[in-house]
Amino acid sequence: MSETKAPSNFIRQIIDRDLAEGKNDGRVVTRFPPEPNGYLHIGHAKSICLNFGIAESYNGNCNLRFDDTNPEKEEEEYIQSIERDVQWLGFQWSGDVRFASNYFDRLYELAVGLIKKGLAYVDSLSPEQIAEYRGNFTTPGKDSPYRGRSVEENLALFEKMRAGELDEGEAVLRARIDMQSPNLTLRDPILYRIRKKVHHQTGDKWVIYPMYDFTHPLSDAIEGVTHSLCTLEFEEHRPFYDWVVANTDVEAAPRQYEFARLNLNYTVTSKRKLKQLVDEGHVQSWDDPRMPTISGLRRRGYTPASIRTFCESVGVSRADSVVDMGMLEAAIRDDLNQHAPRAMCVLNPLKVVIENWPEDHEESLTAPVHPQNEAMGTRQVPMTREVYIDREDFREEANKKFKRLVLGDRVRLRYGYVVRATDVVKDADGDIVEVRCSYDPETLGKNPENDEGQGKLRGVIHWVSASKALPCEVRQYDRLFLTANPNKTGEGGSFLDNINPDSLRVLDQCLVEPGLRGVLAETRYQFEREGYFCVDPSSTDDKLVFNQTVGLRESWPRQD
Ligand code: ATP
Ligand code: MG
Repeated sequence: MSETKAPSNFIRQIIDRDLAEGKNDGRVVTRFPPEPNGYLHIGHAKSICLNFGIAESYNGNCNLRFDDTNPEKEEEEYIQSIERDVQWLGFQWSGDVRFASNYFDRLYELAVGLIKKGLAYVDSLSPEQIAEYRGNFTTPGKDSPYRGRSVEENLALFEKMRAGELDEGEAVLRARIDMQSPNLTLRDPILYRIRKKVHHQTGDKWVIYPMYDFTHPLSDAIEGVTHSLCTLEFEEHRPFYDWVVANTDVEAAPRQYEFARLNLNYTVTSKRKLKQLVDEGHVQSWDDPRMPTISGLRRRGYTPASIRTFCESVGVSRADSVVDMGMLEAAIRDDLNQHAPRAMCVLNPLKVVIENWPEDHEESLTAPVHPQNEAMGTRQVPMTREVYIDREDFREEANKKFKRLVLGDRVRLRYGYVVRATDVVKDADGDIVEVRCSYDPETLGKNPENDEGQGKLRGVIHWVSASKALPCEVRQYDRLFLTANPNKTGEGGSFLDNINPDSLRVLDQCLVEPGLRGVLAETRYQFEREGYFCVDPSSTDDKLVFNQTVGLRESWPRQD
């Protein structure tokens, strides 16, 4: 039985049953098999958490294997980003990183073996003819005229393909299964095709490349994978997966199980679409904090724990569904609410002058790092005659519901004194540029003793010292798409039509308390009364840069 408290799911139940029946000598081996053609996204995180999570709880192994059967698309940058993302999520693959291309020699031998058994043949139809002969759901397939080639002829032609003597598109190797099968993937699927391309792992050694559907089950078998977990779109391919394993001379018989993809609303989880967003400049990079990529979420301020918790809470099933973005945000909010140190940052500064505070007087006020967790200690916040508050926190007039500073009324400066607004200074346009206040020296850590005649304290607001605060830039993000399902478009439209043109808002006049000098990238804070923020990698001592991770409360309506 599973050893950790990870919630059960139908795959864990299958594994429990297999173990109870003594299958696979009690071994549990899984793999995560990304194609290195983009950065990983939140959907991949679900697959990673499932595969590595199962290996962890059953004392098994999980391999990281790059599915690099397509020599044209893969790139080193993607390989490195994928390794980094898996490790950042807190997982470690078993042994070395693997590549499907590691097995090209073996795969070639196994293909030759299929030819010798009469189970594979070289087809010389053009790619268009092959597609036409395959038929579709309503039209049965038609045998290729080359289907009856002899074993000798097939061996010789396959060798010619390998030796580069045939051109791209001139021939393919196909399995000989059943052109009448109701399952289209069994209509003599292609095993090898000619691609005269340099491969990033194998260089120019090969000019023929095995197809994914042939490579995948064999790579699983060669690695001794016991449970090959993939998304539902591969269900149709399972009979071929089993056919390959059954008809080749391999050491193990892995089984494939499918689960539903993770879909999130207001975003897209397709590497192809994410790549388009990057390539066409709709976002700045793969790790743009608006991207649902693991690296984007990381830069946005998500923690590995929050992503793991989220993946656990969406569960693993065979029912397709769209998960609300609010659920992902709730996971990081819960995590940061518990663990993020607090700080004060004023996003839209308005100067406040405390007239009865002596000119050069400075006090160091003590504030908790986390109000609910004493163990996190305290911080010092300097108080001076001039401070900044947020423009939103002041009004000349307001009703009682406005729990902030109003002319004539009092608020507490958080962790500090009670102040009363006595006057405002306006510019030529009539905009308020300064608030004049007085403070009550008796109110540090104490509520004013005599409220009578003074009016009620309206509330507590955050602030920073004007002379001591650090300038910073704060980037606030909105949904990247305006519609819950960006893939749904009008006639001839594209998902790009649904992009939110205002998904990034840069506030570059912000001021943060001086204790944050020298903060490292990826440090996360709760800016009190504002939300959760994370130091961007571009941040420097001269100009701190923060990304807003998420607000303090859910601000988006839930999906019905
Ligand atoms: P994309 O459509 O984004 O390119 P993919 O399935 O082609 O995704 P792969 O690199 O082939 O991407 O995926 C590696 C593994 O991650 C596969 O096992 C795949 O099933 C799984 N995976 C991909 N997307 C999701 C998703 N949205 N939810 C769960 N698992 C996913
Ligand atoms: Mg793919």
